[in-house]
Amino acid sequence: MRLANGQDLESLMKGLFHIRTYGCQMNERDSEAVAAALTAAGYAAADSESEADILLFNTCSVRERAERKALGKIGGLVKLKRKRPEILIGLFGCMAQRLKNELLDKMPHVDFVIGTDRLADLPMVLADAAEKHARIAAVEPSDADSAAALEAMDGRLSPEDAGERPLSAYVAIMRGCNRFCSYCIVPYVRGREKSRNPERIINEAAELAANGVREITLLGQNVAAYGLEGRLAPNPGESPFALLLERLAKIDGLKRIRFISPHPAFFNDRLIDAIASTPKVCGNVHLPLQSGSDKILKAMNRGYTAAEYLAIADKLREKVPEMTFSTDVIVGFPGERESDFQETRTIFNTIEFDNAYIFKYSPRGGTKAAKLADSIPTEVKEERNHILLEDLKQAAVKRNESLVWDRKSPC
Ligand code: SF4
Repeated sequence: MRLANGQDLESLMKGLFHIRTYGCQMNERDSEAVAAALTAAGYAAADSESEADILLFNTCSVRERAERKALGKIGGLVKLKRKRPEILIGLFGCMAQRLKNELLDKMPHVDFVIGTDRLADLPMVLADAAEKHARIAAVEPSDADSAAALEAMDGRLSPEDAGERPLSAYVAIMRGCNRFCSYCIVPYVRGREKSRNPERIINEAAELAANGVREITLLGQNVAAYGLEGRLAPNPGESPFALLLERLAKIDGLKRIRFISPHPAFFNDRLIDAIASTPKVCGNVHLPLQSGSDKILKAMNRGYTAAEYLAIADKLREKVPEMTFSTDVIVGFPGERESDFQETRTIFNTIEFDNAYIFKYSPRGGTKAAKLADSIPTEVKEERNHILLEDLKQAAVKRNESLVWDRKSPC
């Protein structure tokens, strides 16, 4: 097999690789695709990090803590590199994209850094780093056909190579985001929205089902924007994502379809109807709220009001009464007064979420919100976080109690 740069792979050093993944499900999926690409190129997965010749880190930059954790781990490898200079250390993912060459400058023991748009080049960069002992930063988008690069990132280990036959699997359907919520770094590190070809997605899901997968989770930074290529909202009656759900539901053997994360602005009637009328689509929808205050939603550039958010949940529950929801909420966004927080709490307790990821706001360098004063004291953020967690717990108790089977009552 020849690499794109003409090198014969067989003649190159092969080794054992180990990938450590930080962050979201999309990163997990990307790591799986990288493992598949490396396996196809003749490398093999090490049983443990200590046995590996190639250490790869798939990094996250959504929160500063995730970055610090990865930087601490990677920084600590300097001793290992001194002891075993032949080891190759490579970074990819969102932090690699954000910090680019700075990572090579600050960490002389790191051999290569690969940006989110260049992941398909990883085997070639690895081979170059091994053969030429070069330190490489491949972080700028390449001139290669972006659709081909996108598909190149959807390789999957065979059940034999993976050593397992999973019942559930992630399927990436789009990457990137165009929404620019003011607190979020994702559009800067993942780039603009790019959707995969629907036929390739259907084929991939059908193959998974044929191999025993019964549940798929569709992934995308803004999964409901699938196929709209950059538009900030769909036209009425239009939802390529709804059509994709309906087509996937026709695959024999597939029992359940989930998806994360959709932006509420894409829940038009077409999508709501598709979710309601396609039984294979899971009756739990993750609908990120972020705040229940219109003032804070505006400052976050979320593009919907609290009333519009509630209307989506109401419509879904009207059509599927047993529908449950999970969500993301940020407490302590700059300028969040007590009354704003109480508005969030009202929606929170109206919907009675099944699950919620509640984040205490922290500024992310490079975003618009980072220019605002981080005005809410830490103890207030902690208190608001605690209050929502308690509310979540109470809702869970209520729901669980409603499911308790009373042995004394007749069937
Ligand atoms: S929709 Fe907003 S929060 Fe979600 S990835 Fe895009 S910019 Fe970030």
